[in-house]
Amino acid sequence: MHPRARHAQTSIFTHMSLLAARHGAVNLGQGFPSNPPPAFLLDAARRAVGTVDQYTPPLGLPALREALGADLNVDPADVIVTSGATEGLLTLALSLLVPTRDGQPAELVVFEPVYDVYVPQAELAGARAVPVPLHLDPEEGWSLDLAAVRAAITPRTQALLVNTPHNPTGLVFSWAELTELVALAREHDLWLISDEVYDELYASERPTSLRELAPERTFTVGSAGKRLEVTGWRVGWILCPPGLGGGLSLAGGLANVRQVTSFCSPAPLQAAVAEALPLARSQGYYAALRADYAARRALLSSGLRSLGAQVHEPQGTYFLTAQHPTWTAEGLVESGAVAVIPGEAFYVTSPPPAGLLRFAFCKSRAELEQALERLARLSNF
Ligand code: GLN
Repeated sequence: MHPRARHAQTSIFTHMSLLAARHGAVNLGQGFPSNPPPAFLLDAARRAVGTVDQYTPPLGLPALREALGADLNVDPADVIVTSGATEGLLTLALSLLVPTRDGQPAELVVFEPVYDVYVPQAELAGARAVPVPLHLDPEEGWSLDLAAVRAAITPRTQALLVNTPHNPTGLVFSWAELTELVALAREHDLWLISDEVYDELYASERPTSLRELAPERTFTVGSAGKRLEVTGWRVGWILCPPGLGGGLSLAGGLANVRQVTSFCSPAPLQAAVAEALPLARSQGYYAALRADYAARRALLSSGLRSLGAQVHEPQGTYFLTAQHPTWTAEGLVESGAVAVIPGEAFYVTSPPPAGLLRFAFCKSRAELEQALERLARLSNF
């Protein structure tokens, strides 16, 4: 087998879900919601199956590109629908990262802790991911170290992959931080890839979208799975920098790549998302989701604190990171208590901070309560 196939090992998320099932542990590992998706989305999907069943153009179902354009205030011509954000990110790695003239791999700067697909996707594209550590202060939590980003840029760097709100830390980059990143990108002529799949899942202020600051070089990756709680539907998108005129669009270039990866995302599900996006906005669905998550986050976070964990409060996503002196991901799942993601899963260049674990709180209240009860029982031994 080609060495690239070694990247096809089971992902940590799948692995922890399998262990959770085997040991009967509450699954706070893989980030998928327990609550049902909104009824207006399911109704639209039921009507679309049997009606919209054949291939869509590789750029996406026109109605969905229109709906995304309206929701995200972009020209639909610059939108491409992908099979989940994962395929969107792969399409960008395959399309934007070009080996240097001396035959060296292109470099993609990413932040560490790093979401698991960024590094292998860069390698599949013949490039190299260069992780820049986020700083963790035991009291203040996570923060961005701009000097470290600057130090990581070399003549081979071609793109900077930003993820805000950030998985796993829940960090939201501020307007000022993003402005600094944009200045660096302009100085070194880098593409900006902005993974904003948790754009509607923020705790206080709406995160700044990188596209607002640097439309000419930003590719924004988004996800219906995250917004509408249907992670298995595989409907994501990329917003490209505005077209180059004369009918040449960057979205068209990306479509050439994606037509040989999955060709299109499931057609009836694209139709359902197209119908649901304006309804989600007009019915206040995202605001209700945020309020619900705020309550679940508070439940989990105060419960973990009372069991001696140091919780780093997230500003977005449905994850939180915490450190505990004795818990390990392996120990917690094998005792049949709780599945979580070990910090190691997000570190490629250095060991993670001691005792770092990621907990998903996109689970039902009952599951969160049960997880806390089981952890309390473990702590009493
Ligand atoms: N994004 C999800 C998480 O961080 C997992 C995605 C997956 O399992 N492919 O848990």
